[in-house]
Amino acid sequence: MSECCSTNPSKITEQDCPQCGISCKSVGIKTLYHQVRFPENQAINSDRYYFCPVKTCAVGYFSTVGSMIPKQQLRSAQNIQEDMLCYCFGISEAQYRFALQANTAESIKHFVIEQTRSGTCACESRNPSGQCCLAKFKRVEKEIAHCN
Ligand SMILES: [Zn+2]
Repeated sequence: MSECCSTNPSKITEQDCPQCGISCKSVGIKTLYHQVRFPENQAINSDRYYFCPVKTCAVGYFSTVGSMIPKQQLRSAQNIQEDMLCYCFGISEAQYRFALQANTAESIKHFVIEQTRSGTCACESRNPSGQCCLAKFKRVEKEIAHCN
């Protein structure tokens, strides 16, 4: 399955989070400007920034030259704490887990796939990682399958 967003995966590089040490992927400048709140968004420079996906880590974005934007300053800060799966359509991990157990997950996933195909998704702006959420759906499915 092809990923929805215009982000070219080959342009993505990785860097370890200065705080928690997890490997973080780079994000595009468009994602940064849509994610970072005022007035922090005024201080974004042209460096390459990376997003730390760890919920409990205070680091939101960091650059290779040492600038850091805390998760608190992201417009999706609340959603990150709620384990949002799909930022475009507001589907949380808990909701999707529930749907998987209630056997209604297929239609939810179908909806998301359809929207991404037709280009109505907005991962690049809405998702702090700037990436498509479909991979995360698969991860949750695997976890559930593993438990049963
Ligand atoms: Zn981190």
